[in-house]
Amino acid sequence: MTSTSIPYYWSSVDWPAFMADFPPPPHYAEHTAAMSDDALHALQETRFLARMTEAWQIPFYRDRWSAAGLEPGDVRGLDDLAAIPAFTSDDLRESIESAPPFGSHQAFALADPGLPLKLQTSGGTTGLPRPTLFDPVAWEVQAVQYARALWAQGARPHELLQITLTNSLANIAWCAHTAAFNWLGAISMTTGSGLVTSSLRQLELAREWGTTGWVAFGEYLKILAQTADEAGIDLRRDLATRFIHSYLGVDTAGHLRRLLEDTWGVPVYDNYGTHEVGLIGFECAAQDGMHMNEDTAVVQILDPQTDEVLGHGQTGNLVVTSLHRSVPPIIRYDLKDLIQTRARALCSCGIRTAKFSGFLGRSDEMVKFRANNVFPRAAQDVVMGDERTTGEFLCVVGVEGEGLGSREVMTVRVEQRVPGSDPGLQKDMENGIKAAFGTRVGVELVPAGTLAEFTGLGGEGKVKRLLDLRP
Ligand SMILES: [Zn+2]
Repeated sequence: MTSTSIPYYWSSVDWPAFMADFPPPPHYAEHTAAMSDDALHALQETRFLARMTEAWQIPFYRDRWSAAGLEPGDVRGLDDLAAIPAFTSDDLRESIESAPPFGSHQAFALADPGLPLKLQTSGGTTGLPRPTLFDPVAWEVQAVQYARALWAQGARPHELLQITLTNSLANIAWCAHTAAFNWLGAISMTTGSGLVTSSLRQLELAREWGTTGWVAFGEYLKILAQTADEAGIDLRRDLATRFIHSYLGVDTAGHLRRLLEDTWGVPVYDNYGTHEVGLIGFECAAQDGMHMNEDTAVVQILDPQTDEVLGHGQTGNLVVTSLHRSVPPIIRYDLKDLIQTRARALCSCGIRTAKFSGFLGRSDEMVKFRANNVFPRAAQDVVMGDERTTGEFLCVVGVEGEGLGSREVMTVRVEQRVPGSDPGLQKDMENGIKAAFGTRVGVELVPAGTLAEFTGLGGEGKVKRLLDLRP
């Protein structure tokens, strides 16, 4: 008789050691986030070198690094990080194509029968989404990261937390739930998106059951506010909301945050993460940049053109090295997300970390247009800052004419709240978007609600702001 042993989750992790290594709140504030710069650097370096040793065993890294002339032992610490070639999501996709279905960067995990695994994916835009495996440590550390964020934003045990993200192939909703349930003692209320629980029902549940915290995308908070307005529900008077954990996208001038805070009457906190490395940045009550989860990730900023490492305060691509992930290791992953970093300092909330800015755009969404680099999301501030619009817009790039007479054209479609109501809006949008893009583009005012089919607003994924019709 053969026996099969089950890789039980509960016994797969040394939990007290895990908590000491990655302290959840409130211990985080007294440990990692109170360390001296030297002590933190030493901790990061130890973890980094352990991840390097693991990564050298994995074909994806071994082949790339050998091809770049590296040998095991060449990288002796974090100071040598820049010598390691960065990779992008394209490289992960190639890895998956060459060693289906999970790729040479993580197939090894399947060979360990003692390892419980969870599978999540990226939001795929074309073809199948990109699968990522999680072992229990990867799974729980992302929840600890998230619990630290929720705590800094005011969440406490038995908080009724309404999570308006769907537990699906995307891991953010799972992450919010696991954080609340496993590491915060909050009551996790997984209503899912508006496709799972209608927006009206979401509001009714919040009103009747007393939701105190929300987890929701900025775009969905606008839909909920609109629904409340139509149903005669007063968000400030009828709900018990204390704070909102959100993702604001490019909101450098703070228009979206102000709009949401005015509407909901509570603080709205921005956060940043990806499914591979978890929630690496979160705002605290100070709302002054995002705290970095520094014991779980090392962040570098690279010049998008030259890949040169940039200093604090300069805008570039975020390149992240995970300090906790072994399945799969993530070493120098160029996310193509533009941000700025700030040196480690004591924050008014009481913790000491480096910080980074909110999300400033995606360098791979950048459109080369008449010798200018245009970031479609840069229009967000202009459009959302004007109450005559619904805040929704879509940047459309195409080609007009044929042969030698053809030329690239860019038009930003902007939803006008009341069609034809204000002839001055057209001019104001043209001027505002010209300033944001650094080049003049066309503006087309369209009726409210007509862009959702292109932007994906109200759906499950991230809202799209670029429609590229060029051949
Ligand atoms: Zn703070």
